[in-house]
Amino acid sequence: MKIIHDKAKCIGCGSCVVICPKFFEMAEDGKAHLKGSKFDAKTEIEELEVEDLGCAQEAVEVCPVQVIKITK
Ligand code: SF4
Repeated sequence: MKIIHDKAKCIGCGSCVVICPKFFEMAEDGKAHLKGSKFDAKTEIEELEVEDLGCAQEAVEVCPVQVIKITK
């Protein structure tokens, strides 16, 4: 499974960091950062392969602008 964070559209509200610190932290640019992810500078999308989603589903649900997604 893969967690995807569309950083370009992240508004930096911090909700994902509060609910899911295992995967998310705030970056110096004021937006969330998906820890350990691969970042595509062109699309500004972060992707992380995971075996266990843990709190990631909650992060998807809490994001007010729906920029966190999970693919299977
Ligand atoms: S919840 Fe969504 S908008 Fe808020 S910091 Fe996380 S990814 Fe960005």
